[in-house]
Amino acid sequence: MPSGTFRPLLRTGHRFDPEAARKPLLIFERVYKAYRPDAPVLRGLDLTIERGEFVFFTGPSGAGKSTLLRLLYAAESVDSGKILFMGREIGRLRPESIPFLRRNIGIVFQDFKLIPNWSVSENVAVPLQVLGMPERLVRTRVGEALERVGLSGRGSELARTLSGGEQQRVAVARAVVCEPALVLADEPTGNLDPQLAVDMLGLFEDINDTGVTVVFATHDRSLLDIRPHRVVVLDDGVATDVPNGLAPCAAPEQRVA
Ligand code: ADP
Repeated sequence: MPSGTFRPLLRTGHRFDPEAARKPLLIFERVYKAYRPDAPVLRGLDLTIERGEFVFFTGPSGAGKSTLLRLLYAAESVDSGKILFMGREIGRLRPESIPFLRRNIGIVFQDFKLIPNWSVSENVAVPLQVLGMPERLVRTRVGEALERVGLSGRGSELARTLSGGEQQRVAVARAVVCEPALVLADEPTGNLDPQLAVDMLGLFEDINDTGVTVVFATHDRSLLDIRPHRVVVLDDGVATDVPNGLAPCAAPEQRVA
């Protein structure tokens, strides 16, 4: 398969949509989600994320951050409202289009989610193998991804023998190996000590510098305070932009439109 096939695709239905590149990468419109009717998690959430942004996502535990990520990934569906990713409504994707969505979203979890007894390369290769990419190309792509995260030459080591910080780098390589348009990092520094957390943030910033949109979910105020990125707080079922470096206390007019 030609490598171009794995670049982010801008398609609506089966037709190329030249407008898609100029639209926001991600739009949540009045998204409502309740697991129990008396306790909605998302209550008409509006949020727009432009291509190339680096956004910190924060908020109290239980506010619905993971729910929001699962909706994005089409692991859950909205009760009402819509989510548009690259101009396409996630809730209306046909089953055969879900892989399009997932190859364009790389996810990094707090607990790395590596397979400990597999090598570094085997872990990073998984998303490419799921797509059916030929082995020769897989090797090239995995090598490039490991270089991006500073782990060149470490591919044959078993994942479990690496330090926590290195394992998270492997997880980042796996998240970017399909060249996604968006990387979602869900508390990626939660298991790392403070200096490694800052290094990890720098790695996501490097990835963002290559044009990838990054949503970095964290509770770590020290990270929010040291970098001048957009901060969105998820609380009470809505998303609110707050000034960077200040406590979340946005006025209603600052709600994300
Ligand atoms: P966060 O990631 O911000 O901590 P979650 O999205 O995990 O929040 O959860 C938001 C709320 O929804 C919590 O009250 C949680 O108990 C509830 N919740 C999450 N997933 C489910 C589910 N599958 N079934 C029922 N309730 C759920």
